[in-house]
Amino acid sequence: MSLKRSPEEIEKDISNIEHALLTVSEIRSSLKHFTNIIQAEQKGSNFVQLFGDRLKCVRYDLNTLSAQGENLKGALEHAQITAIENKFNWNMIKSEAEKEATEEEIRYREEEANSGKAKELGSIVKASAEHAYKELSSIVLERKSTLTTSEPLFLTKCISEWLAENKPINTELSIIFAKKEYSTLCGSTCRIKICMRKALVADLELEYERESDALVIHQYTIISAKEEKQSWQNSQYFVFQKMNLLATTAFEDMLGFFAREALYNILDWFASYHDLFISPCQRCHKVLQFDSPQYRYLPPMVRTWAKKQPIYQNNETATVRKIGAPYHMRCFIEYRNNQAM
Ligand SMILES: [Zn+2]
Repeated sequence: MSLKRSPEEIEKDISNIEHALLTVSEIRSSLKHFTNIIQAEQKGSNFVQLFGDRLKCVRYDLNTLSAQGENLKGALEHAQITAIENKFNWNMIKSEAEKEATEEEIRYREEEANSGKAKELGSIVKASAEHAYKELSSIVLERKSTLTTSEPLFLTKCISEWLAENKPINTELSIIFAKKEYSTLCGSTCRIKICMRKALVADLELEYERESDALVIHQYTIISAKEEKQSWQNSQYFVFQKMNLLATTAFEDMLGFFAREALYNILDWFASYHDLFISPCQRCHKVLQFDSPQYRYLPPMVRTWAKKQPIYQNNETATVRKIGAPYHMRCFIEYRNNQAM
């Protein structure tokens, strides 16, 4: 790497820094929205949904920032080298800083003179923050169990039953609790990692809603078993990026069942990926297919999933979709269109 940076490069750096700062301000605004939802006096029936959606926004902005951070690496290295060389005009920097501080002080005095509004604002912010904190702790914090016995909670129980009775034999699949299940006001929640050897690792944040007997997935990422990623970071491989997109549709169908069945659907679905890079497509009988210029050649990365079938009025039997059948994305769309006829 060259020590000097051309004026064009520095210009680009400044524009990158500006972009990153804009993203920081977007994160602040996402966080503000998120806080507003938590602060709201009336919590509607869609509160959990809103909570999840807003959390997703915050996560999206944080991901954007981390990508932009990558672009700033060159500039930061340059800044570090310059700092080591220490060729700064300290006197000028000091006098500029003092000037700014004096101006800031004057502005503050003026504001304070305006009938102490600044202080008032401060106390409002403090009160709101305290209120938000109280609300947040009532929602998120663990409710201490009154039971003395250590009876496993709903999701933990379902998962261990699935592992014992439904996990396909000879499938090297394990489930780790990244966050132990704990009770919440409306049910329970936990975070699990499904590890399928030689194929994938899926990280899921699950919630069980007792009253509606529903399962909710708040966040998820599916990455290669070979990857080491921070939580909720996307995969570097095209096939897994695409699988994350597919999962959005698949989960929607699979979560249409009651909680226990929905959870079993999801675990069955992940288990069906054990032959991800080996099994040929059910339609074209090939392993690799040209997908798109962006994703290039992909193996059949679709595995069919459970979906509630419409009830037929006459005695015609509905075509039951085979679960876990491998398809290429394009072949799957063709297959689905034919089935819908
Ligand atoms: Zn195919």
